[in-house]
Formats: sequence, structure tokens, C-alpha cells
Amino acid sequence: MRTIVFKGGTVIDGTGSPPSLGNVLISGSTIERVGVFEAPVDAEVIDCHGLAVTPGFIDSHSHLDLQVLENRRDKLAQGVTAEVVGNCGFSPYPVPADRSLLYDFANGLFCGGTDWGWPSAKGYLEQAARSTTTTVFSLVGHGSLRIARVGHQLGQLTERDVDWMEQKLSESLEEGACGFSTGLMYSPGASAPFAELERLCRVVARHQKTYATHMRGYGDLLVEAVDEQLQLARRTGCRLQISHLQAVGPRNWNKQAVALEKIENAVAAGLDVAFDCYPYVAGSTVLTQLLPQWALESGIKGLLAKLADGAERKRIAAETDVNLEQGWTNILISALETPANRGLIGQTIAAIASSRGREPVEVAIDLIQEEQGRVNMLEMNQSEANLRQTLTHPLSCIISDGFYVKGRPHPRLYGTFPLLLGEISRERGWLTLAAAVHKITEKPARRFSLPQRGRLEPSYFADVVVFDPGTVNSPASYETPALQPRGIRHVFRNGIAILSQGVPCSSVAN
Ligand SMILES: [Zn+2]
Repeated sequence: MRTIVFKGGTVIDGTGSPPSLGNVLISGSTIERVGVFEAPVDAEVIDCHGLAVTPGFIDSHSHLDLQVLENRRDKLAQGVTAEVVGNCGFSPYPVPADRSLLYDFANGLFCGGTDWGWPSAKGYLEQAARSTTTTVFSLVGHGSLRIARVGHQLGQLTERDVDWMEQKLSESLEEGACGFSTGLMYSPGASAPFAELERLCRVVARHQKTYATHMRGYGDLLVEAVDEQLQLARRTGCRLQISHLQAVGPRNWNKQAVALEKIENAVAAGLDVAFDCYPYVAGSTVLTQLLPQWALESGIKGLLAKLADGAERKRIAAETDVNLEQGWTNILISALETPANRGLIGQTIAAIASSRGREPVEVAIDLIQEEQGRVNMLEMNQSEANLRQTLTHPLSCIISDGFYVKGRPHPRLYGTFPLLLGEISRERGWLTLAAAVHKITEKPARRFSLPQRGRLEPSYFADVVVFDPGTVNSPASYETPALQPRGIRHVFRNGIAILSQGVPCSSVAN
């Protein structure tokens, strides 16, 4: 068993307490000692003078459900040692008999092929446990659950269908899924009535797990959406985590303070509610999210059939335009598949519209047709003042929400954690280093009940990051996202080095 001392560093233990100079001793996969002590003579020593020593970072809102199985380097290079996947209603299980239904639903975020899918959490978690780079925790996705039972059917389901979903959810939670997620801006989850969500949240509460939600709206409907989720938590007693809280579009920026006040009042009244946010003003998702979600009844195939009908297309275009919260100049194409359109990556819909001589909404719909629905976008959504307010709020965890696309991914996939420690904490001074570390270690571990992770404390897993607080940062930009972070020196997961002297260990990572 290897005994290693991280010696003489600034220890930031994950709890939010002020840093202190000291050592961290790990033995095998466990932390043995933290503080000021003589290093045992037979221990290997990693000199940490001038460096910060922290728990491994936890990305509690990841969409790398499939990529965590491939031991990719992009997360470990940032110091991430554990991830919560299955967010926003998308999980790679339960898989329906007709697998194409699930692929059609989830591949826009999963960036997957046609070779995945598990019957329940058990099979997925078993495979994920073999990852050499990260420890995987998974939420059961509401959209996936619904698709497994009724495909792309919308609206209220029969009693028997909801019974089945309750049963399936309960089974996956028993098998080790850490909670449940909804994606109420994605079809078919968006069509679920409150009563269905209430029944499923009761199952979550019974298992004492976490319910994470991509709410029904973040712009015009932000306040109503928060009310609905608080109502669910109040009626069912489940622990609620509101995903990527923000106010989308200038006309809604003032609503964020209202939403936060509602959440604070709910906490004061005894509800177990918190939220998370990523440290960027831009968001990213599939372009079809801008459409009215009824248009996605019967999935992408159904959508393309509707768009081929002149009258239907007109109706969809009109609704899309009215409901658009952030403006066409703020929406950039980040990924698509046909070679002829590759040059559009990085351009705004407004710019493409003026070069094609078409209305922006028509261009968006043209692209969805040309790409058979497979288009991703980057949206400049938020104000910097609002971002500062959520990042520094005592109830927030900080997350990546990152995912791969066939094109140019959002830089949050490559830079979230070093950016938080560098630009946000050190350079802008929005929060102390100890507070920033807390929001990516102990805080998410508590929200999702991840046992023995998120703190430098004896008996905890030896997930350790060593970084240079003077240089840590991410150079990843919207134009050039796939850049390696700076200043991350060593990363250990379960006592095994996965990044050493700034370089991912080739024995563990692809
Ligand atoms: Zn989401």
C-alpha cells in the first residue's frame, strides 16, 4: 500500500474554513491524517510548498454519462475526481425495446452513437465503476423513464404508466442511483403534469435521495417555475436541487433576485432546497429547445414531418419568435453534422440570416431541417451581475453542465474548475479560494449524499488536488474551447495518481 505525504502546502479542506499550512497523509485509497505533523520516514513525499492542497473536485452537474466510461482527460485535467451524471431528465437507462427512441431523445447531449443503453441503474453503475479517471454517481432521468414506457407520447399518462415509472425509479434508486432529475424544457418531460412529478418526487423522498431539476423555464417563466419546484418539495418532502439557476434574456434579468428570495424563504421555512450554476454568462443546449415543445411530439421524426407542412411550419416559427428570450444576435451555432454547413459553426443565427437573406427564425428552422434536428447552440443569456450573485450565494454549488458536441463545445467542458479558482476567485475576487473550493467539494457531496468524499479528513477517500493558486486558470474560450487548464499540478483519485506534474497519467486516461 502506498503511503504519500502532500507536504507543506496550503491545505484547503473543503469545508469552507480558512486555509492553513500543513500536510496531508494518504495511505492506499484513504486519507489518514491532515494537519501539522512529522511525515513518516517511509512515506513518498510530494513537495507542496507554495501550492494549494484540496479535496478532488466534484462536478455535480455533468452530461458525460457516456464519456465517463471512456476515461477521457478533459475533466481530470481540471482536478475533477467525481461526477454526478443523469441530469436534466437524461439518463442512459432505462432503455426501451426500441432503442432508437432513447437515442433520438438523448444523443443531442450525450454525443453518443447507437451502442449504449442499460435496463436500469445497476448495469450502468457497474460499468461506470470501472472508470479509471472518475467516480460516477447517477440520477435517474425523468425523460428517459417516460420514453422507456410510452416513447415520445405527450401529456397525462394512464395510472398504470405512472405506476410503472414509480416502480422503475424506485428500483434504480435501490440499485444505487443517487437521485432523480427532470428536464422540463425538453420534450417529452416538458409535457408532464404536476401530479406525475409529485408522485415521482414522493418516491425520491421515501428513498431520502435528491431531486434535481432543469425547470420549466428560466426566462419569462422563471418565477413561476421556481414556485412549481418549491411546491413539489413542500408537498413531497424531497430534497430539491435547482439546476443551473439563472435568468435568461435581458427582459428577465430582474427576475433572478425574486427567484433567489423565494428560495431563501423556502429554506428559512425548513425546506431542503439549494441550486447550482456554471461560471459563464453563456449557456448551451440543442437548438430544438427554442421551439415550442409540442412540436416535438413523436420526437425529431414528428418534428420534421410538421416542418414539412407549410401551415404547421408557420405556426411553429411564429411561436418560436414570440417566445425567444435572448435575441437572435445572442445565439451561436456550436455544432452540426453536414459538411456543407460546417462553416456556420461559431456564427450567430442573426449573421447567418443576413447572409442568407432570410428571417432569423426561418434560418433556425432551416438548419434544424438540414441537420435532421442535430444542431447545438451556444446562447449568450445572462448578465454578469446576476452571475456574480448566483456564484457567490451561500446556497450555490458550482458545476460544469458540460458536454461534448460534434463541433465546438462550450468552454465550460474544459475550464469550469480552474476558471473558478483563477479568474473568478483570484482575479475578480468574487469569493475566497476556500469558499470557491467548498462549492466544488463538500457542498455538492452533501447535496447528493456522496459518501466520504468532498473533504480532506481522515477516513475519507484519498481524492486530492494540488494546484498553484497564483497561476491556476483556464484559457478555454468560446472560439477555442479545447485548451488544457493551467496550474493544476497533481490529481489523485482513490489514492491513485491520475495527473502528475500537470500531465494526465497515460496509465489511467485516454
Ligand atoms: Zn439542464
